[in-house]
Amino acid sequence: MLKKGRVVLVGAGPGDMGLLTIKGAEYIKKADVVLYDRLVSKDILELIPSNAKKLDVGKESGKHPVPQEETNRILFEEASDGKLVVRLKGGDPFVFGRGGEELELLEQNGIPFEVVPGITSAISAPAFAGIPLTHRDFCSSFHIITGHQKKGKELSVNFKALVQAGGTLVFLMGISSLGQILEGLLAEGMDRNMPAAVIENGTRPDQRKVVGTIETLFDKAMEEKVKSPAVIVVGEVCGLSDKFDWFSKRELSGVKVIVTRPKSSGGKLSARLKEMGAEVMDYPCIEIREIEKNSRMEAVLNKIKEYSWIVFTSKNGVGILFEYLKRRKKDLRVFAGQSFAAVGSQTAETLAGYGIIADYVPETFDGKHLAQGLCELTGEDEKILLFRALKGSDEITDVLKRNKRVFEDVPIYDTLYINMGSQHIETLINDNPFICVTFTSASTVEGFARSINEIYYSRITGICIGRQTSKAAEKYGIKHFISDEANIDSMIKKITEVQNELNTTTQA
Ligand code: SAH
Repeated sequence: MLKKGRVVLVGAGPGDMGLLTIKGAEYIKKADVVLYDRLVSKDILELIPSNAKKLDVGKESGKHPVPQEETNRILFEEASDGKLVVRLKGGDPFVFGRGGEELELLEQNGIPFEVVPGITSAISAPAFAGIPLTHRDFCSSFHIITGHQKKGKELSVNFKALVQAGGTLVFLMGISSLGQILEGLLAEGMDRNMPAAVIENGTRPDQRKVVGTIETLFDKAMEEKVKSPAVIVVGEVCGLSDKFDWFSKRELSGVKVIVTRPKSSGGKLSARLKEMGAEVMDYPCIEIREIEKNSRMEAVLNKIKEYSWIVFTSKNGVGILFEYLKRRKKDLRVFAGQSFAAVGSQTAETLAGYGIIADYVPETFDGKHLAQGLCELTGEDEKILLFRALKGSDEITDVLKRNKRVFEDVPIYDTLYINMGSQHIETLINDNPFICVTFTSASTVEGFARSINEIYYSRITGICIGRQTSKAAEKYGIKHFISDEANIDSMIKKITEVQNELNTTTQA
């Protein structure tokens, strides 16, 4: 077996999760120990295995919570102990990341190490602000410079050489010396109308940019209260940033959305919203938990031949049943030619993933339509088996009863309301009057309402997946919209419509 003890310096990229390399992600996922900095985004830290040791050795400017020598020593000791140590750094580890310093001790002691480059903020923040660092019409080089100033010392930048070189200039760690940088360039004869920009939180959903000239940028940046982390870009290419600004033109740029789906739902909704430019806060308010020692499920599976239809009302149910079968070393062959019904396309898709094509999916994805369809498809002598939540609604069972259908309602999971601390969500709602909250089931409304103070109910705009969910929102006085269809795409469309509507009314 490969000797494991080693250190991998991994560049985490500038913030956007998608800009982490595949190789970097693979190392993080198998790390025993991870040392990370303050600039590494939360999404990326979530990739760290739960049993790995996580050490925050972040260095905030001016503060050094863990001295460099200490970090070097930890890397050495953990790797000597046979551990796979990932040293995770913002951007690229060798671009003003002290990556070189951290390898010294390892090299001296023969500890194996590797470097996984990352996408540096020097290139990606401008790219996300519509600034190509080179352009044949304007420049033939770009230069990355540190604007960091040691306490009590002069900024050591050769402005003369930079002005003479004539390429695009990118300053990192330069916000506190922005004024000096721009003055330094002016003093060495750079054209006072030279375009320049500052990009704060580049590639993150809250990215901001300020564009001006080397003469005006300082005041503009002060007015906008630009903070670190930010890059400063100086050069003709900054003049292209409006034309090539794709970031703030995305459909949901600047829109904040709270997503209340449980973690187990896979985060598709969050991922899609992020792709469209929204700033997404995941706030799972419910958790799906399989009912343990489920004797009723076992009993119906033992007499499965009696049933002619098997019905699923959520993808959770499908997953839980098939995983249960797998644990019991059983497979599809336990079924004996039954027909399958699914409440909607997602449930049907999940079912297909387990090898079963649904025989019936109602056109309108809700319990009432599912039950009505089933009544048309079955006779009074056929038995229907429902696998669903313990707190399932009466929508389906009422219709079946009214139509004298014989059915067995077997709960296979329960929905638990969880409260992971709501203070940050309450603050967010307070600060953002147009914030949307997505509700993908009545239980997410319930979980949300239970977790936050009731004064916030009327301050959000709910986006509900269907009538049942809408009813729950109504109960709490949450103003809301219902997506036209009961699926994720339709919910996203509704968010876009609501936001467009808001934009037109606020502009009018
Ligand atoms: N190794 C990192 C740079 C570390 S120095 C890299 O390659 O990106 C820290 C500086 O990087 C910050 O002061 C800021 O200038 C810049 N920086 C890092 N992340 C940034 C981001 N998301 N947006 C803008 N600047 C960023």
